[in-house]
Amino acid sequence: MTTSAPEPDCLFCSIVEGKIPAEIVARSENVVAFADINPQAPVHVLVVPTEHHGEVAQLAAARPEVLAELVALAEQVAGEQADGQFRLVFNSGPQAGQSVFHVHGHVLGGTSLGGRFA
Ligand code: 5GP
Repeated sequence: MTTSAPEPDCLFCSIVEGKIPAEIVARSENVVAFADINPQAPVHVLVVPTEHHGEVAQLAAARPEVLAELVALAEQVAGEQADGQFRLVFNSGPQAGQSVFHVHGHVLGGTSLGGRFA
């Protein structure tokens, strides 16, 4: 789903609004970056649009400039925390492992990640 208003039951809308605490590491006009609560790498940061969009393709269709902004903030965070090298992962749909339906990129880095995807 794509809406410009916060979704009442959306965890990441609540984090964006400051209603649920998170370790915010960076912000830009339309994107917030915060530490993942269950890190899978030495650097594991989530980059999320402040607007509610369910999946990355919906964000790309509705607000391509915000998706570009999200990638730019991911690169900024990786530059600050992981020597500028990072993996950016979007899980899209439950079968792909998406569990929070507010689009988010996983910025992973700080170690050698190898060539595997799982
Ligand atoms: P997904 O499985 O949807 O691709 O990723 C959701 C991510 O959100 C997971 O990596 C999970 O650890 C993270 N996460 C879930 N709940 C919270 C929370 O309350 N705070 C933070 N910072 N991360 C969360």
